[in-house]
Amino acid sequence: MTMNITKIANVPDLEVTRTSTRVARHNRLSESGYELVLERNGLVFDAGRLITLHGKDVTEDRSYTIASGERDEHVHVLYRYVPTGVLTPQLIRLQEGDTIDLSGPYGQFVVRDTQRPLWFIATGTGVAPCRAYIRTHPDLDLTLIHGVRKEDDLFYRSEFERYAYHPCLTSESGAFFHGRVTDFLAPRALPREAQYYLCGAYEMIYDVQAMLLDKGIDPSHIFVEGYYYRLET
Ligand SMILES: Cc1cc2nc3c(=O)[nH]c(=O)nc-3n(C[C@H](O)[C@H](O)[C@H](O)COP(=O)(O)OP(=O)(O)OC[C@H]3O[C@@H](n4cnc5c(N)ncnc54)[C@H](O)[C@@H]3O)c2cc1C
Repeated sequence: MTMNITKIANVPDLEVTRTSTRVARHNRLSESGYELVLERNGLVFDAGRLITLHGKDVTEDRSYTIASGERDEHVHVLYRYVPTGVLTPQLIRLQEGDTIDLSGPYGQFVVRDTQRPLWFIATGTGVAPCRAYIRTHPDLDLTLIHGVRKEDDLFYRSEFERYAYHPCLTSESGAFFHGRVTDFLAPRALPREAQYYLCGAYEMIYDVQAMLLDKGIDPSHIFVEGYYYRLET
């Protein structure tokens, strides 16, 4: 296995490295959702941390939450293919045995207290850190509210179903709640003692954050990780 680790920075609690890593598997999970399974190359991380996948130059580098657990053999990256994007059209061409440069870990979106209830509110691929949490802390008292367009995009559904799991579908109805995560949350009383983790589209994060504050949740119990602004209307 190629292992070419170069130390590039030190932050107080993280040893950040850059490495050329091999693709172990590449799975298509839905129409536009993919999972890259990468050789770990000794990368040490806490659940909720990020990596950077590197393109040809720094303008092509993009951040991804590690979707696997701290003790998993591989680094999993859950990503949405954006045809008009820069890096994901390159990622979907990667095949088993190819290599890609990765650096990390970065970020602060880690579980602060594994003993307290954790409400995770995500859109789309924003569910990735939650998957890392449950693979690392399987006994977490988790409530997951996952907003997607279609049932197909309920990534890792079978792993989440043993928790309080509330898919919210905007483009399809059926067995699940039909509407946005904010529609789901609006009529509900929310536990004051819980920690709230919000991840995905910034528009969702702003709306949910405002709603949580309106409902009396202490701002110090709210943690956010914004991925992107929705370009489409
Ligand atoms: C802290 C952080 C963590 C991130 N973690 C992830 C992750 O785990 N998985 C992931 O798929 N993306 C993640 N992203 C987004 C990722 O960095 C890229 O922006 C994304 O993969 C698209 O890359 P691109 O170069 O193809 O397109 P870009 O040029 O980066 O983006 C083009 C447009 O695509 C849309 N877009 C970007 N990301 C998404 C998405 N995930 N779902 C739907 N639309 C999107 C936005 O409208 C964006 O403006 C994260 C971003 C940040 C800042």
